[in-house]
Amino acid sequence: MKQKIIVTGGCGYIGSHTVIELITHQFEVVILDDLSNSNIKTLDRIEKITGVRPIFEEIDLKDTEKTKAAFSKHADAVAVIHFAAYKAVAESVQNPVMYYKNNFFSLLNTLEAQLQEGIHNFIFSSSATVYGNPKTLPITEENEVQRPFSPYGNTKKIAEEILEDIVKANTGFSSISLRYFNPIGAHTSGDLGELPNGIPNNLMPYITQTAAGIRKELQVFGDDYDTKDGTAIRDYIHVVDLADAHVKAVKRLIHKEQEQALEIFNLGTGNGYTVLEVIQSFEKITEKPLNYRIVGRRAGDVPALYASTKMAKEKLGWETTLGIDDMISTSWKWEENLKNE
Ligand code: NAD
Ligand code: UDP
Repeated sequence: MKQKIIVTGGCGYIGSHTVIELITHQFEVVILDDLSNSNIKTLDRIEKITGVRPIFEEIDLKDTEKTKAAFSKHADAVAVIHFAAYKAVAESVQNPVMYYKNNFFSLLNTLEAQLQEGIHNFIFSSSATVYGNPKTLPITEENEVQRPFSPYGNTKKIAEEILEDIVKANTGFSSISLRYFNPIGAHTSGDLGELPNGIPNNLMPYITQTAAGIRKELQVFGDDYDTKDGTAIRDYIHVVDLADAHVKAVKRLIHKEQEQALEIFNLGTGNGYTVLEVIQSFEKITEKPLNYRIVGRRAGDVPALYASTKMAKEKLGWETTLGIDDMISTSWKWEENLKNE
């Protein structure tokens, strides 16, 4: 019998890649998603890649009763991976209520429903944004957590505090919070990738859309940081490597290998790249010149973020296998395939 995993937000960018890895590792997957930032066609894409169509329930997790009903239907699940959230930083600054409401109602309804059904394993999508502007690099899990700049970031910080309380109050309940650095890239098949709604906020989709002629020029936010070329440094991680870490985390919970009821892991490669280095790699790999212009810094951006990968390596047994060139080539392949949609 396959073990069943409930994946909230499983039609989204990171969720869909994780569903593929779960299916590949012989798990049965149930996706709960309201499609607010994703497309039903993602199920076809997952089926094309894996040969398996995951069970899908279209449901808004803000709805307490519907969430409970979905969990009662799938009470035989052994773990929940919770991706469902809104994630646009600038939008969260403009509309904090919408962000706090969606991200917390979804989280709390999911936790309440799974506790009610006795599903005791929970994986949470957190973010490196909880480190704010770190005092030391690379960032270890011991680095101080700071009040994030945006309401979006704050939903991640507070969610981790909520999880601390929930594991204390519920014996046997175990959770892993995964702090992602900068996920980019797409499935190597070119059949699945990020589908940003409207104008992208993030660097990689903005680069590929500019190269594809959808956007006129890329704005590089600031070249006066204290870095080798003045542009900000981030730790970009391939979404397929990231997805694989979730499978490792699920197995750690199911096999009761965790050392604490709530564990936290950074998920990055440990390598930092500046914005200009990413642009140069993109131009080299695709042989396409990119139209870009240096502009002022973006509010809330920090100069440099990159992860210490030691803890994830030692405890999850997880290491990244794909580098910046793979991230760029798969992102570009996906962008080109989107033209034929
Ligand atoms: P995404 O928007 O592609 O996926 C999120 C999915 O959740 C979407 O399919 C959306 O329809 C669904 N969803 C949102 N609200 C819902 C609700 N109320 N009920 C049911 N479904 C709902 O985002 P992603 O990039 O795949 O991110 C997944 C998770 O990882 C999010 O929690 C995000 O905050 C976190 N994260 C993402 C990044 C990143 O750069 N992409 C970085 C750090 C953390
Ligand atoms: N960035 C940029 N132009 C863009 C989008 C992003 O110069 O159009 C920069 C941004 O300032 C940051 C890096 O690229 O230094 C990564 O930004 P992204 O929004 O992808 O992720 P973040 O690290 O902010 O979560």
